[in-house]
Amino acid sequence: MAGRLSTLFATSSLLPVIAVAFAVGIFVIDTVTPLEAAVAVLYVVVIMLASNFLPRPGVLLTSAICLVLTALSFLLTHELDDGTGLVKCLLSIAAIGITTFLTLKNQSANMTLREQARLLDLTHDAIFVRDTNDVITYWNRGAEKLYGVTREEAVGRVAHVLLQTRFPESSDKILADLLHTGRWEGELVHTRRDGTRAVVASRWALKRDERGRPQEILETGNDVTAEKHAQETLAEAHAQLAHVTRAATLGELTASIGHEVIQPLAGIVTNGEAGLRWLKRDVPQLEEVRGAIERMIRDGKRADQVIRRLRALAKKAPMQAMPLDLNEVINEAITLVQREVLNYRVTLQLELAPDLPPALGDRVELQQVIINLMVNGMQAMETVVDRPRSLVVCSGLHDAQEILISVQDSGSGIAPDDMKRLFKAFFTTKPNGMGMGLSICRSIIEAHGGRVWASSNAGPGTSFQFALPLNAGIRHEP
Ligand code: ADP
Repeated sequence: MAGRLSTLFATSSLLPVIAVAFAVGIFVIDTVTPLEAAVAVLYVVVIMLASNFLPRPGVLLTSAICLVLTALSFLLTHELDDGTGLVKCLLSIAAIGITTFLTLKNQSANMTLREQARLLDLTHDAIFVRDTNDVITYWNRGAEKLYGVTREEAVGRVAHVLLQTRFPESSDKILADLLHTGRWEGELVHTRRDGTRAVVASRWALKRDERGRPQEILETGNDVTAEKHAQETLAEAHAQLAHVTRAATLGELTASIGHEVIQPLAGIVTNGEAGLRWLKRDVPQLEEVRGAIERMIRDGKRADQVIRRLRALAKKAPMQAMPLDLNEVINEAITLVQREVLNYRVTLQLELAPDLPPALGDRVELQQVIINLMVNGMQAMETVVDRPRSLVVCSGLHDAQEILISVQDSGSGIAPDDMKRLFKAFFTTKPNGMGMGLSICRSIIEAHGGRVWASSNAGPGTSFQFALPLNAGIRHEP
């Protein structure tokens, strides 16, 4: 309130007039009326008023004028040997001198503060301060630029109403964090004056008073709308690329997949025929018929599952993170590469850790990674004739922090120079290779907060491994 009043005075053009009127009034009363009081002491009010609209030399001049007026009144109304009058005059002069000194000191402190506040206008960040009722008390030029709202319009408004803030989590939780740690940072969506949305990386700092009570919140924000948009476009491109390479892999796996579906279908036919035969007997063998029908149902379900998995792989669905049993994901991937295992005459060995804790991930994308690594491993063993072609898939828990999956082959191995560029897009040593498989694997694993790498085995061949953190968060959502 006091602050508002002084701003009102400071901005009012009436202030110089009031100061002069005050000075004249004091001089007249001091000179004309026979008051016993030291009226000239009131000149301090004139000096304080002057400090609101005059710079330092102006204040000094006002002070000098007040001193002259004090002395003049004394000379006009008192004899020089009037002891009491002289004491009153000296008292007033001392009051004027001390007030001038303090006022100038205060003025220079205010100037320093104003200079510092002006510094905040130099930054491109949007900075504003709001009180505990969320009312804006300071608004810098960066905020004016970002939101299109001037300082005059913003000060006094409720921040989250003015900016129509959308929070990433409940505002109660944010407030609790702020009160607990004194800080908060996160991404907010604000609405600019023209109605467009701005994604803002926001950092809050809580200021407390001497008694530790929350007093003000300093909010700094950077406009990250463009980066956010670029990130989303990138994520979209990643999803499309993943889809294209998945479709290509699917094309290559058609034989396997066909086999996986044909086998249960053939089983259904065989069991159906057997069932009929049991029924046609003079005494129908109902137990046998029941067995045949149960096998038909089992095969039907198997074919259904394969087709569902296929459709999931072929579909361009957005990334969906959920707790996954990676052993299950490995087993599902294996059903889709059965034919490759046969064709490449590979011995497939599984070493899956029991009771693997779940990892957070996208089932289809992780299946794609495992299929890619397995197919690469099998292709690397194509030329191997003098030793077993063995593909070992392992799962395990590492340091109780991450889940480790490895695919180990006994193939041709990788030249040291190629090791560095394996995961680069379009790197391939295969005549018909696209060189996208490993690059996609890496982007999928990294989007899951994990890492993937290759190493040469002690014996022949290569091991590809990837690690996923337990409860990993997916970093983007295409
Ligand atoms: P593509 O399979 O289309 O070539 P990838 O990105 O999957 O694309 O693989 C890139 C290259 O990495 C392959 O061409 C091959 O030279 C090498 N590579 C990948 N996996 C293995 C492996 N298990 N053993 C040896 N070389 C491999």
